[in-house]
Amino acid sequence: MDDLKFGTRDKRGYWRPKAKLEPAPLLNLPFNLLAIVKWLPAYLFPWNIIWALSAVAYWHFIVAPDYEAMKVYAWGWALKLFIVNCIAVFLFYGAFELRLYMRRAQGTRFKYNSKFPADHKSPAFFFQSQNFDNILRGFGTGVPIWTAYEVFILHFYANGNAPWVSFNEHPLYLLGVFLLVPLFHELHFFCIHLLIHTPFLYKWVHSVHHNSVNPSPWSSLSMHPVEHALYFAGAFLHVLIPSNPILAIYHLHFAGFGAVVGHVGFDMMEVTDEKAIPSHAYAHYLHHRYFEVNYADGLIPFDKWFGSWHDGTPEGDALMNARYEKRKARMNAKAA
Ligand SMILES: [Zn+2]
Ligand SMILES: [Zn+2]
Repeated sequence: MDDLKFGTRDKRGYWRPKAKLEPAPLLNLPFNLLAIVKWLPAYLFPWNIIWALSAVAYWHFIVAPDYEAMKVYAWGWALKLFIVNCIAVFLFYGAFELRLYMRRAQGTRFKYNSKFPADHKSPAFFFQSQNFDNILRGFGTGVPIWTAYEVFILHFYANGNAPWVSFNEHPLYLLGVFLLVPLFHELHFFCIHLLIHTPFLYKWVHSVHHNSVNPSPWSSLSMHPVEHALYFAGAFLHVLIPSNPILAIYHLHFAGFGAVVGHVGFDMMEVTDEKAIPSHAYAHYLHHRYFEVNYADGLIPFDKWFGSWHDGTPEGDALMNARYEKRKARMNAKAA
């Protein structure tokens, strides 16, 4: 496909889509029901449905057979869950990595940054390799913390300590929880993200994630363990409100597998010469490139409300630069 029909590439090799980024219409004012109905399929397909199906598969094939054993903390079932999570992350993240970054099946078409991390060494990373560093952090602390939370939540449910609601008795309520999980994730992520952008936590915790200025799929879970611990904690919602363990697993998959969606580095993933799937990665890509924009992903328009939204256009650049200049002038005035 010709990516220049859909966007432009500047002299430095950065590609940007022609269409400007818009937050989801759900909480836009004035309220527009038609826009919300039109947006709903993109909200569900393909990603949220994939995480939901993967959660159901986990429940039937991994969790349910061990359910009685989960009443007691034991290495057996916990390690099995950990190994399954590792394999699933390896295969899922790896599929994007293999096609787009190793085989480079679509070259740099639709790639925001024309460089590939594997071609550039950087002292910011273990062994100067972004991929090695990212993989080490993802599997070293990311998947273990994700699994530890999952073990705790399932153990809690198995012992009847969580307010368990069944799909047979309250399907509409649980459908509501399912639809709200991404919104709750956005709220939770926005809050912890602002927190870890405060100077002390940025320096010691979040800078690890931002080392990947040009993110690739492995960057998704490349975080400091403190960030992993905060990031996955949103799933504890399901031991606090009436819910269901399948929705708790869905929540963890939304955070864990869903992180790839923001870090894939390509705007569209080509399927055939004429067809491509939009990645929805641009808002978070801009956060990696410019650090102080798009703290959330635009599902809830937090960044619009707080003035940190970057819509990806040259006008968005100008607004961002004007904010920097204003802040610099304020800091200089303070220092004088
Ligand atoms: Zn990121
Ligand atoms: Zn950040």
